[in-house]
Amino acid sequence: MNQSPLADRLRPTTWDEFVGQEKIVGEQSVLRRSLAQKKLPSLILWGPPGSGKTTLAHIIASELEAEFQTLSAVTTGIADLKKIVAAAWVNQEDKKTLLFIDEIHRWNKAQQDALLPHVEKGTVILIGATTENPSFEIISALLSRSRVFVLQALTPVDISQIISRALTDQEKGLGKLSVELKEADKEWLAQMANGDARTALNTLELAVNSFSPDEGTLTLTRELLLEALQQGNLYYDKTGEEHYNIISALHKSLRGSDADAALYWLGRMLEAGEKPLYVARRLIRFASEDVGLANSQALEQCVAAYQACHFIGMPECELALAQAVVYLAKCKKSNQLYKAYGEVKKDVQKTLNQPVPLHLRNAPTKLMNNIGYGKDYKYSPDFDYAEEQEYLPPELKGKKYL
Ligand code: ADP
Repeated sequence: MNQSPLADRLRPTTWDEFVGQEKIVGEQSVLRRSLAQKKLPSLILWGPPGSGKTTLAHIIASELEAEFQTLSAVTTGIADLKKIVAAAWVNQEDKKTLLFIDEIHRWNKAQQDALLPHVEKGTVILIGATTENPSFEIISALLSRSRVFVLQALTPVDISQIISRALTDQEKGLGKLSVELKEADKEWLAQMANGDARTALNTLELAVNSFSPDEGTLTLTRELLLEALQQGNLYYDKTGEEHYNIISALHKSLRGSDADAALYWLGRMLEAGEKPLYVARRLIRFASEDVGLANSQALEQCVAAYQACHFIGMPECELALAQAVVYLAKCKKSNQLYKAYGEVKKDVQKTLNQPVPLHLRNAPTKLMNNIGYGKDYKYSPDFDYAEEQEYLPPELKGKKYL
């Protein structure tokens, strides 16, 4: 029996088995039509983990009857690239080489540059997979020579279908075992997989493997699946695109004073294992940026929540964060300070060499006194506080930021 992981065994090899991503793989799609003519430019596949990027590259290679070579940008570099290109060069009369580079965004500019001549000459057809926005992570020379396809996170319905296949496929799946999984729990797992088919399949496999071989019916309860899911800790990418999407959703819900939504996004992060101090730091920033002097206690609340996280950690500090989040959502908001300080920064850039007005200077020595430091300064307690005195440099005289 093939001992490779379930997700690998079930990797689709034909269009029929490939679930979802209709826009890209539908029969009338640009991709399918180019493939029908055996003509394909280099591609960048941008999509979340487990959405089918690697699978798609495999199917494309098989359609083109090309040699499939793969590199992981995490562990390999230019030396490995050179070997593949040299072989591709020799073989090009017989077979095209399709070079799949996983996580291509991990390559630096020099490494990505090294690909250019080979892509340009057509020595290899490049398929780069990335979970990150290519506009920021892929050099523009490479982008302009490639076509970018965006894969969506698979929908729960897509993933449900993939789970069903895993349960019934006798040859590569679990079809020969007697596995019991209620429809509602299957749908729940499909939701929890968060668009990632690999997560769903790995969780299923971990849960099945928790039974001993001689057990008859393997009943997969929701508790068991949850345990497997947490064991794999697979359903939240702490550094990837989704991480930034969720923190942004939290920030915007707070700004929009929607306490329920803010609390939900907080839960999404914490339950997936986000560091509480990271969240607390964001809240502190929010308190100054979006609440400001409309409620100056917001900053205190958030600093206190930060300290609470620091003192007691998760899960105990979750309520301190929840309290701060709801407080911020319900606060009156003001971005007056944020805007004012932005203006100040601009003016500072423009007026770097503006001298400090003489009357505001300190005059600790006689010489300084003689040349006018501190002259005509009006010591506030000695005169009416309302009396006019200019405190800004001459170029900004009378400027108002607030
Ligand atoms: P990615 O490269 O986007 O991280 P993969 O293509 O390696 O994801 O997918 C991991 C596994 O998940 C595959 O081996 C396959 O079993 C399953 N899978 C992913 N996407 C699909 C899909 N669209 N249809 C069917 N199975 C899929």
